[in-house]
Amino acid sequence: MATFASSDAFNDARNGAPRISFVSLGCPKALVDSERIVTSLRSEGYELSRRHEGADLVIVNTCGFLDSAKAESLAAIGDALKENGKVIVTGCMGAEPEQIRAVHPGVLAVTGPQQYESVLAAVHQAVPPQHDPFVDLVPPQGIKLTPRHYAYLKISEGCNNRCTFCIIPKLRGDLVSRPAADVLREAEKLVAAGVKELLVISQDTSAYGVDTKYAPSLWKDGQGHEREVRTRFLDLARELGTLGAWVRLHYVYPYPHVDEVIGLMSDGVVLPYLDIPFQHASPSVLKRMKRPAAQEKTLARIQAWRAACPDLTLRSTFIVGFPGETEAEFQELIDFLDEAELDRVGCFKYEPVAGAPANELGAAIAEEVKQERWERFMAVQQRVSARRLKRKVGTRQQVIIDSVGPTVAVGRTKADAPEIDGVVHVASRRPLRVGEIATVKIERADAYDLHGMAVGF
Ligand code: SF4
Repeated sequence: MATFASSDAFNDARNGAPRISFVSLGCPKALVDSERIVTSLRSEGYELSRRHEGADLVIVNTCGFLDSAKAESLAAIGDALKENGKVIVTGCMGAEPEQIRAVHPGVLAVTGPQQYESVLAAVHQAVPPQHDPFVDLVPPQGIKLTPRHYAYLKISEGCNNRCTFCIIPKLRGDLVSRPAADVLREAEKLVAAGVKELLVISQDTSAYGVDTKYAPSLWKDGQGHEREVRTRFLDLARELGTLGAWVRLHYVYPYPHVDEVIGLMSDGVVLPYLDIPFQHASPSVLKRMKRPAAQEKTLARIQAWRAACPDLTLRSTFIVGFPGETEAEFQELIDFLDEAELDRVGCFKYEPVAGAPANELGAAIAEEVKQERWERFMAVQQRVSARRLKRKVGTRQQVIIDSVGPTVAVGRTKADAPEIDGVVHVASRRPLRVGEIATVKIERADAYDLHGMAVGF
């Protein structure tokens, strides 16, 4: 759950402006939605409250992806109703308002994902804004819920794929890409405001622009040169790489044109990091999952990418216990894991999300079998991950500092995305600052994290 505790969005002083308490649940994409809503509210004169109690209204941005996320969302709405009483619900769960109203009939309004206008209209109705035309409450970069030195950059909404375990297209609709010039202007403002790392997100980053037939848009870069940029994954990545921040690409599918982006990574234009959710390795399971680009020869391509860019970090996620998954199919996944040597891996046990076609595709796997497969999977990956990390001992790495303590700071190398990957524990002779990029000599590695000493600032 994201709150605004680390952001610059609060104003605790009561000056008569209506105050909103905001709860943001779910993935980075939902966080970006929350930031947009908060930015609009602040520009209209609303203020944010740290607590539900005493606020004029609570907004809960829900996640409806898994049953466990739905339960968390319903509990958050219940808390807000108890502590405040005036509650507006938005986000993924808002696509099924009857589920929310069945449990919490007292909510004021329910709006779906990306329905910014509807959320604002509901807020206006419940607590009208205070008009102050002389005060610009919003810094030009908008309000960020992440720490100032990194920010998520959402390049599209929705998804054209129909993976059978996923209801996101049902909740969020088909792919709608933002024009490249819009994304670049937002990125430029973020960098000007001190952001050092841009995390590019969407449901399917490599499909960016397909819906617009890669339409060009006009962008004036920092030197005042105007040029056309196509709404296309490679073109956008190349331009983002000129802004002077780290650019990290998430949710990339292995379509053939991904090979071209590896060139930008080896040239240092964007970070040599690919977050590429494979979900499985058995061709029959991938077929039942209806994964995009599943037919590509993944192992051979990974080898080719690594040959072209030896520093490449590969992160992926997998699902074990998909309906009908046989022991032999699971073994294919384990063999792949052993051979592919992915650097960072997340693994989920299949959860039968209501409305997902996968539930009908094969016999449900017993919970104890899922658990046992998950444990075998993690044991293999832990060995791989530890082996990969050990290769970094003795090297010098650039590390972006996320937090500082009395004796050591914690940061990340180019190989680590915030919140999902490992960290580097950094000892330093001089105090480090959050957001600073230091050169660190790596002295030790454990299964997931690195330890080292700052040697350059
Ligand atoms: S690519 Fe598949 S898993 Fe990802 S959002 Fe689209 S349908 Fe869901």
